[in-house]
This record gives sequence, structure tokens and C-alpha cells, in this order.
Amino acid sequence: MAYKNHGAVSNMLVVHSGEIVLKGKNRGRFERQMRRNLARLLGTRRVESAGGKYIVRVDPTPEQVEILRVFPGVSKFYVAKEVEADVDALAEAAARIVRGARTFKIEARRSDKSFPLTSLEINREVGRRVVEKTGLYVDLKNPDVTVYIDVLGKTALVTNRIERGPGGLPVGVSAPVVALISGGIDSPVAAWMMMKRGCPVTLVHFLNATTVMHMTENKIVRLARRLFRIQLEGTLHVVPFARVQSLIIKHVDPRYRTLVYRRSMLRMAEIIAQNVGAKALVTGDSVGQVASQTVENLHAVYAAVELPVLPPLIGMNKEETVEIAQRIGTYEISKEPYDDCCVLLIGKHPETRATPERLEREEEKIPNIREVEAAAVDAAKILRF
Ligand code: ATP
Ligand code: MG
Repeated sequence: MAYKNHGAVSNMLVVHSGEIVLKGKNRGRFERQMRRNLARLLGTRRVESAGGKYIVRVDPTPEQVEILRVFPGVSKFYVAKEVEADVDALAEAAARIVRGARTFKIEARRSDKSFPLTSLEINREVGRRVVEKTGLYVDLKNPDVTVYIDVLGKTALVTNRIERGPGGLPVGVSAPVVALISGGIDSPVAAWMMMKRGCPVTLVHFLNATTVMHMTENKIVRLARRLFRIQLEGTLHVVPFARVQSLIIKHVDPRYRTLVYRRSMLRMAEIIAQNVGAKALVTGDSVGQVASQTVENLHAVYAAVELPVLPPLIGMNKEETVEIAQRIGTYEISKEPYDDCCVLLIGKHPETRATPERLEREEEKIPNIREVEAAAVDAAKILRF
């Protein structure tokens, strides 16, 4: 992180939220939510904000910094010292930061334009004094250390390291959604992408079992814990689906089993969405990734429910998804082996161009499918994080 505390001045966290600034009349609501979420993450009630910038007088822990890198609404952040806005004080702080380096540059900005020097003049004046104090060289192209200065008014913030966040909107400003999560790589990324658009996410997993007595520490629980660390809280519903699954195997043409099964999962997720007040379902689908994810099949599967089904990865390549999974810390967990889906479910030649009508006809062959689905949802285990 940024340099260590040298006594007099204390560290503070500065967070910028790019997109929030653009939001016109909703801005007040976005800022309040962002303040609330930051306060909760950092365990403090005092978050100051002005013009899309948030200042928290705490020194974040390494774990909090790690979350900030993927925290919805954060476009960039840094740990800074607050010093008097005067070239001598700035030069002193800058000189301390560059200690140990060979070359440096100053990069100043003025949030308060009443400061008598322009940004360029601050760069020059502070830089000159740092050279005098330390004997180091200025290198504007490729410095060992860049000292960033933000003049606020009477004081200025000084840091040597600005980190990027994911941008987006703080969780809580968009409608709640229910995300279907398997043990795979895609669905946790899909859930996070909805968080990043401000949606509080409830997770649903369909477990290959007839009951969920107690969920042990498996990869689904660990994925949920990771995602809800970022969301700050949330619930995971674990639905036992083995009964539904065996009915499908018994009654449905092998070519359509996967698709009927996916429709059944969406219907059960829709019941849960109604129970928790969620307005959409989320999946990790991406066009053409597997046979069940052709455009035609996705239409035939999504037609099973009335709520909109949102697949945020729909146009993404696998490598793009993997990159995000690594960034948000779900990849390592998703990679572990997991006995997710019964092999009997997948026929040798799955249909790639199903229609809703065809799948409905297959479902009509299953006695009491709706009742069995409702019973499975009733038997779900709900874990709170
Ligand atoms: P993933 O990597 O998320 O498993 P995938 O590309 O492997 O996705 P499928 O396994 O066909 O695709 O699943 C498609 C989507 O259906 C998943 O992204 C997820 O949203 C949902 N899904 C699949 N299996 C389950 C399950 N057991 N519980 C909850 N949702 C599931
Ligand atoms: Mg999968």
C-alpha cells in the first residue's frame, strides 16, 4: 500500500466513484448508498463525500483493500496523508514518499481551484523543492515513484499509489435479483456483474441430493462467502433437486433433458424471487458456450418463467470471464472439482434448436412436476452471510 505513517499526519482512505457523478438527479441516492456501503465495509460511520469523492479517516486493512479493488461503485482509491496545502509542507511530505527511489515526478490536481498555483505550477514548485531536499532526479516519462497531490482547500492529499476499482454502481441502488450459481466459473462472475450494476443478489444453488440436512463447507458455500464479502451480506438458498432430476430422467427424451432441467431450475428460482421480492433471474449463460446455450435454446429455456432472465456474460468469451473470475477471487474456488450435474441428464445428442412448445410437451409427460418443484423450494436450506 502507500507509504507508512511517519508520525504527525495520519493515513486516510480516498475513494472515487466515476459513474456516480454522471447520474443527474439520482446522484443524491447513489452517494448515500455509496457512503453507507463504504461505512459498512470499513467499520466506521464517518464517511465524508463531495463531488464523487469519499474520504474515510481510517487506515484500511489489507483485507479491506483487497475488497475495495472489486467493490461495486469504486472507480479508484488510495491511501493518502492529509497535509497543509502549502508548497513547503507538500514538498516535505513528497520528499518522505520518494525516499529510497532514484527518480520521481509530481502529479498534482486541484479539487479546489482557489489555490493560487495551477497544477503545473504545483508540480514544478514541489518538484524543485524535493530535488533540493533529496538530490533525486525528476523523470517525467518513467519515474520510480509518482507523487500524487490533490489540493482540497486548506489541506491536500498526498499519495504514491492509486489503485483501480471496478467502477459501476453501489449495491442497493438497483432492484434485487436472484442469481443461479453452479460450481462453475461463469455463474459467480455473472452474480458479481449484477452487483456491479447496483443489484443486491440472492444466490440459489440446486444441489444434487434429495435433502439438504446440513451444508458442509463445500465450494458453493465458499463461493457464496466470497461474493457476499464483496456485497457485505446476502443469502444462499440451497435447493435439493435430486427428485426433480430423477423425474426428468424417467420421463423426458434424453435430447431435451438438460433443457427441461434448466427450465425447472428457473421456475424454482422464480418462486424464490417472489419470496424475496427480486425482480429478475440471473444466469451465467453465454451464447454458444455449450450445446444448451444456443440462442434458440436460451429462448426456449427462458420462456419457462415470467420474470426477465438476465445473463450478463451473454456476449463474453471464456477467457474474458476467467479474467474477471481471477480478479474477484472466485476462480480458484470454481476450479476445484465438484459433482454438480448428473451425467444421465445429458443425452448423447442434445437438441440445439429447441422451442418453448417442444419443451412444454416434454414437461407434460412429468406427473406433478410443479408440486415437486414447489416442495423442493420448501425444503431449501437458507444460509445467511
Ligand atoms: P457455469 O460455469 O456457471 O456452471 P456453464 O457455462 O458451465 O456455467 P451450465 O453448467 O450449462 O453452463 O449452466 C448454465 C447456467 O445455469 C449457470 O451459469 C448457472 O447460472 C445455472 N446453473 C447450472 N447448474 C446449476 C446448479 N446446479 N445450481 C444453480 N444454477 C445452476
Ligand atoms: Mg457449469
